[in-house]
Amino acid sequence: MTAAKCPPNRLPKVVIIGRPNVGKSTLFNRLIGRRQALVHDLPGVTRDRIEQEGEWWVGGRKYRLLLTDTGGLGGERFAEEIEKQVELALEGADCVLALFDARAGLTPADQELIREFKRKGVHRKAPILCAVNKVDAESHENLVSEFFALGLEIVLPVSAEHGRGIDDLQEAVIEALGPDVAERASTEQPEEAEAEPVRVPRVAIMGRPNVGKSTLTNALLREERMITSPIAGTTVDAVDSLAELGGKPFVIVDTAGIRRKSKTEQGVEVLSVVQAKKALERADVAILLLDGETGITDQDEKIGGLIQEAGCGVILALNKWDTQRKNPKFTQELAAERVRKTMGYLGYAPILFVSAKERTGFRDLGELIMEILHQRQIKIPTHEFTEWVRQESTVHNPKNAKFFLCHQAGKYPPTFICHVNDPERVHFSLKRHLINALRERWGYMGSPVRMLFVRGKSREKNPFVKR
Ligand code: GDP
Ligand code: GDP
Repeated sequence: MTAAKCPPNRLPKVVIIGRPNVGKSTLFNRLIGRRQALVHDLPGVTRDRIEQEGEWWVGGRKYRLLLTDTGGLGGERFAEEIEKQVELALEGADCVLALFDARAGLTPADQELIREFKRKGVHRKAPILCAVNKVDAESHENLVSEFFALGLEIVLPVSAEHGRGIDDLQEAVIEALGPDVAERASTEQPEEAEAEPVRVPRVAIMGRPNVGKSTLTNALLREERMITSPIAGTTVDAVDSLAELGGKPFVIVDTAGIRRKSKTEQGVEVLSVVQAKKALERADVAILLLDGETGITDQDEKIGGLIQEAGCGVILALNKWDTQRKNPKFTQELAAERVRKTMGYLGYAPILFVSAKERTGFRDLGELIMEILHQRQIKIPTHEFTEWVRQESTVHNPKNAKFFLCHQAGKYPPTFICHVNDPERVHFSLKRHLINALRERWGYMGSPVRMLFVRGKSREKNPFVKR
């Protein structure tokens, strides 16, 4: 593999290429972790190449790499620009990051750029990863599919400006560099070990009016010691609260004033879809409160759908369980069965039986949240995942779909892209089988899993797959 050519005395080099204005310098700044290069709003602003050392945390290890922003001449001189970028890449890139603009779509200039890179044989010297930028929200991810036409098999949605998908991109680069180079780039922990920055998990308590959200929020904040001094590196919005569950700090994301309501005793506040989406965007895990007294309604299902769409982790909590505890006919098993039946699409979410009023049933909530977040961190190496899909597709595959390269494109939520000879041949029961088998093997408890099938080519052409 190309990657092994990186001599031991220099840092692995990652070269960012792409036509002007796709966001190369924004991504460069994001990847070196500093605001160094200027971001120009106008296309075609001349800029020299900029090189900087970047330090990345990937999978609990620190890596040092040299990043090159190839700048942009743009305008009439695009052919020259491509030539310059090819030259820079051939000057010893260990990995090429080709950047595109999801908003603009796949343009002839993008195609020309990649064609030229392939014509000059860059892809034979260094792996070329495709990152599609300006995917600022989950709902933009469908914009990515057309970029598969470039024939670059690893396609990752990112937002350089908002920081979406950056962890996954860094992981993909480290993986593409190959174990030898990655090993060279990883640094020993210094004595006065600088710890990996920790983000305090954010939890949103969701549910229809009157289900007990404010009672639970207050119970969680009162039950456990409230942290008054802000934790370094954490930004907590004024309306959010810092709580401690099972010895670990958590941020309870305020969902449209549920706490304020209980203070002022105003009437029921209806959480609008927009407010719910906003809260979910900021949450790592959502607790969907259901009413154990009155049962599940359409509104619960809708909120469940919003959570699933948002892609965050989810726990189902059947509240007001105190009212059912003495009901011998309504056991937890029976209740769980009913929840599963009506909200089958959230079958991966653990169910808790709680009483916010009596403050029971959520002693292990902190641990459960941590476990969900832990399982979301699982990254499956490309070669392992490809082999696994190919193996599983021999078990159940009614329309005889043939799989090529399959890879994990994201972790939040776990997202997988499978290249297949014909996506129409992926029967829904095969997709179901793959997702079930994936959960059986890797877990991903409490997280939605997305699996996309795109038309692909033979994996033999891909440099990432170990044979
Ligand atoms: P370059 O010419 O490829 O280096 O592009 P720049 O980094 O200068 O970015 C071009 C424009 O795209 C600037 O206005 C950026 O603010 C904008 N931009 C960069 N990344 C993103 C992103 O993730 N989302 C959105 N919406 N805009 C972005
Ligand atoms: P929100 O609108 O979702 O914030 O709901 P509230 O927290 O205001 O609770 C609505 C009503 O349900 C109030 O009368 C609460 O006292 C009651 N309630 C909340 N949790 C429980 C519980 O665990 N058991 C019982 N029996 N009632 C509860």
